[in-house]
Amino acid sequence: MSRNHDLFARAQKTIPGGVNSPVRAFCSVGGTPCFIERALGPHFWDADGKRYIDYIGSWGPMILGHLDAQVLAAVQTALTRGFSFGTPTEAEIEMAEEICKLVPSIEQVRLVSSGTEATMSALRLARGFTGRHRIIKFSGCYHGHADSLLIKAGSGLLSFGQPTSAGVPEAIAQHTTVLEYNNLAQLSETFASIGEEIAAVIVEPIAGNMNLVRGTPEFLRLLRELCTQHGALLIFDEVMSGFRVALGGAQALYGITPDLSCLGKIIGGGMPAAAFGGRRDIMAHLAPLGAVYQAGTLAGNPLAVAAGLATLKRLQAPNFYDQLEARTARLTAGLTQAAHEAGMTFSTDHVGGMFGLYFAAHRPTSLAEVSHSNLDNFKPFFHHMLAAGVYFAPSAYEAGFVSITHDDTVIDTTLAAARMTFAALQR
Ligand code: PMP
Repeated sequence: MSRNHDLFARAQKTIPGGVNSPVRAFCSVGGTPCFIERALGPHFWDADGKRYIDYIGSWGPMILGHLDAQVLAAVQTALTRGFSFGTPTEAEIEMAEEICKLVPSIEQVRLVSSGTEATMSALRLARGFTGRHRIIKFSGCYHGHADSLLIKAGSGLLSFGQPTSAGVPEAIAQHTTVLEYNNLAQLSETFASIGEEIAAVIVEPIAGNMNLVRGTPEFLRLLRELCTQHGALLIFDEVMSGFRVALGGAQALYGITPDLSCLGKIIGGGMPAAAFGGRRDIMAHLAPLGAVYQAGTLAGNPLAVAAGLATLKRLQAPNFYDQLEARTARLTAGLTQAAHEAGMTFSTDHVGGMFGLYFAAHRPTSLAEVSHSNLDNFKPFFHHMLAAGVYFAPSAYEAGFVSITHDDTVIDTTLAAARMTFAALQR
């Protein structure tokens, strides 16, 4: 009998659905989730002792692979000094300085504990700064689970086929306008009619919560132009893309300067840390300087900051991103070749250490296109790969992540499993 199976049965007695975050329950692929016991480099091991190549990397943070020696040493040192003080610390300043140096649009930054807090706080700040209420978001983009943002969101909500969460009052939802990603005409029309009501537009410049879908340069440039023209703030949610697609995030790749940015995942190195920051004149509206309230008992937690700082330092090694990109490219090119050899309709995309897999002839540009790709193939693909020891995200609406420890041997093992899987799917 599988221990995973027993643990899942036990978990469901005291935890709703047996999980603390919905996508972990394998709802869209079926079967029993793997309960992971330990991890090292590109691998983790489940409760049955089975080893997997990990392509979720804790949904983004583990860019250095699991248990990186320098990150581990930094956390070990920090934990001998105390877990949490609830006071300012010098390490927090170092973290803020590092973020401001690496992401030039961020002049000032506030640390929080999750991506959800980062986006929720950025919205409140944008509303407080502009004195306006309306928020624009794009279908398929996920920005965490704050009420204003749980409307036609991506990620777990898509896997469950729910456009919007229950429990979000209409009075809140009515202030969020949802537009189609990469649709320039719709964006222009919306600004022409309600531009003066818009407090902020929040966008994943490279979306990773409806599979991987890139914002086109024209779309992001138009967003920047329209926000400036109409006095709305442009918020780049780089919780996933930050330090993942390039050292300076997607904004560095596109050469676009948002007013505010949200960061998370990698900046905590696997510990709970996230941040929002941007223009100094906007950030000055936050308490204790200004009237927009925002706070956190564990914000800037010393262990999380130690892990994050050690991670950010490692990312600045020469050629880190070239090497990461080369590894991801080797994976996606190999998967495409394996699929095509088996006669499957399949395509891929990747940016830095982030990738998308599509059972479609072309890369999608919107949620509608992702939904039209052959999602039926995803489920058997996922389970064949899992059985072969390769752990992809358990949903066709998620991006995948490669770490710097996914070397040629690891990727070759993945590709061998993929060749068998695609052949089996064609039978
Ligand atoms: N924004 C984006 C782009 C994300 O991908 C996520 C999480 N996947 C969040 C916000 C929310 O972050 P958290 O889960 O840490 O609250």
